[in-house]
Amino acid sequence: MAHDLHIHMVLDGLDWRAAIARHAQGPDIPYIRQVLGRYQAAGYTYLRDGGDRWGVGAAARELAPAFGITYRTPLAPLCWAGHYGSFIGETFDSIPRYTALVRGHKAAGADFIKIMISGLMDFDRFGRLTEEGLTKEQIRQLIRIAHQEGMAVMAHANGARTVEAAAEAGVDSVEHGAYLDQAALEAMAQAGVVWVPTLSTLVGPMGKGRFPDPVLERICASAARNVVRYAQLGGLIGCGTDAGAWAVPHATDLERHLLTKILEDRTEPVLSAAAEKIREKF
Ligand SMILES: [Zn+2]
Repeated sequence: MAHDLHIHMVLDGLDWRAAIARHAQGPDIPYIRQVLGRYQAAGYTYLRDGGDRWGVGAAARELAPAFGITYRTPLAPLCWAGHYGSFIGETFDSIPRYTALVRGHKAAGADFIKIMISGLMDFDRFGRLTEEGLTKEQIRQLIRIAHQEGMAVMAHANGARTVEAAAEAGVDSVEHGAYLDQAALEAMAQAGVVWVPTLSTLVGPMGKGRFPDPVLERICASAARNVVRYAQLGGLIGCGTDAGAWAVPHATDLERHLLTKILEDRTEPVLSAAAEKIREKF
């Protein structure tokens, strides 16, 4: 009864442009069936997609029950124009425009709202993000508006202050969450946030020569320390690979393996409680 709380059906772990091009004429149904078949064969029964704007996750959701899989999708992720995320999401440039997108997504059958509120980790330099996050007030508004529409919120968020602001605004899950500090972890625990650290995105690229391994290892070690600290605070840690991201294949148990090494005998209770909460809210 495996689950993955963060995948991208539209991506294939190899080349994002080529992967997206596969669906240029509409979702490639035989391809999606093949990927779902791999998840089914590996025992997966629940997948939560991080979204795409080509309807690939939505098509997967339609097909998934035949594979014994419950599939959840936000449809397209939403990102502020000019900030990280436009390669895969829909952009907005004002709060009214965002509100309209949230309502449109809800009407179109989104299971939840996915927002991008920070940059990515810079895999070449420890401690750096590719850009600063949105402001605290912007983050608060995005989460509040989605919640007012009755939608749970999954947030792509890195950096302590960005994640802390999201937690204080009641975000439901934080994805990635690089470089957290104690204050951010405490705010997340207080708000009952499920943290999906997607360690697979750091370990998958190791040894492949695209990024310096010492940097990947250092980012990973810092995330591992925070995973331990979050578990000590009673925080819920979700098993999500970000499958489809570069060097992260679909339907592997890499994330569970990594979290088990970190959490040891606490793994099962922590991961199951997180999965249960996600199934409830999303
Ligand atoms: Zn993702």
